[in-house]
Amino acid sequence: MANKICFENGQLNVSDNPVIPFIEGDGVGRDIWKNARAVFDAAVEKAYDSQRKVTWLEVLAGKKSFDETGSWLPEQTLSTIKEHLVAIKGPLETPVGGGIRSLNVALRQELDLFACVRPVRYFKGIESPLKNPEKTNITIFRENTEDIYAGIEWEAGTAEVTKVIDFLQNEMKVSKIRFPQTSSIGIKPISIEGSERLIRSAIEYALTNHLTKVTLVHKGNIQKFTEGGFRKWGYELAKREYAKELESGKLVVDDIIADNFLQQILLRPERFDVVALTNLNGDYASDALAAQVGGIGISPGANINYLTGHAIFEATHGTAPDIAGQDLANPCSVLLSGCMLFDYLGWTEVSEKISKAIETTFAKGYFTADLAKGKASYSTSEFAQKVIENL
Ligand code: NAD
Repeated sequence: MANKICFENGQLNVSDNPVIPFIEGDGVGRDIWKNARAVFDAAVEKAYDSQRKVTWLEVLAGKKSFDETGSWLPEQTLSTIKEHLVAIKGPLETPVGGGIRSLNVALRQELDLFACVRPVRYFKGIESPLKNPEKTNITIFRENTEDIYAGIEWEAGTAEVTKVIDFLQNEMKVSKIRFPQTSSIGIKPISIEGSERLIRSAIEYALTNHLTKVTLVHKGNIQKFTEGGFRKWGYELAKREYAKELESGKLVVDDIIADNFLQQILLRPERFDVVALTNLNGDYASDALAAQVGGIGISPGANINYLTGHAIFEATHGTAPDIAGQDLANPCSVLLSGCMLFDYLGWTEVSEKISKAIETTFAKGYFTADLAKGKASYSTSEFAQKVIENL
């Protein structure tokens, strides 16, 4: 019988037949989801015979949802994901106009998914701008709820910004605003709690996966109390909660200034295992790292709250309207997000099978059009079939 995944004593409790909600996604979501699901089911069957099986439960969001229900993000979808803890999603079309700024942001905020996790690795056969792309094997932990992304800003010329500038100048004695009459102002909150829960998750991930180094990436040299706080609180947390691991050498925590980080990932990427970053720095670094392994279209991602167990795994690309519905899209981003999901459930045999099968498929020269670079290319369904054959 299919069961809900539960979260008990800080751990997921997963039966042999868990129910996992999925959002198919718009545009290429329709092409990639059905093929990815076939790969997932075949890999579970291969790993556990008939002992284990996922029951996939469709929930609606995005354009498909709007067309069927009149709502871009129905309450039912949120409550189903809340109840089942874990979900996987394809890309969603962002509504133009209307109340919702971004469906992805709404989902992250609603479930307080504070860690954006992106493993970045190289697959042999993929074209990369680096000479030795295989040296990049880095997992990003980007803080997802704070920073300049909190959306606290006021537009130049409005009564609101005038009030904020008055307060800064008259009450706080700030004299450094260069053009006070024509400035927009934004606020950057970075908290101890927000930094600690993200950095603790990064350290736990490193220890669980037998990785030694956790690097705090920041701009604390300039932004002393926000970015500098992130660095300071990270070191304090490591000393307080992981003294044994630090002493034994099982864990090494260090830090690097964000601009130097962007140099070092090109020059000495092997220096990093797990990196923890504030929201904006994490946004830039995620795309830079994905691009250097040639994998902007095949990068997996997850947004996780390790304290409640809630997690949404997702293809990181958009709906690709230029190739939607043509069976041309690369399904690897959602396939590798599925690998992260199975790892999260503790079904590591499944994720190993899928990632090895993708490696083999690339090594044998099967690529979708985005990666074929002018050579013969395979459709989404043909590529997925090859992955299933290579499981
Ligand atoms: P996009 O990622 O959809 O497309 C950028 C380019 O990458 C296009 O040339 C596209 O063909 C290609 N591409 C993307 N995914 C691919 C795949 N799986 N296989 C092969 N090629 C692929 O970005 P965009 O054009 O800026 O955005 C289109 C729509 O997607 C917008 O409505 C945007 O809001 C939305 N979007 C959603 C998400 C999400 O839900 N996570 C993320 C980004 C953009």
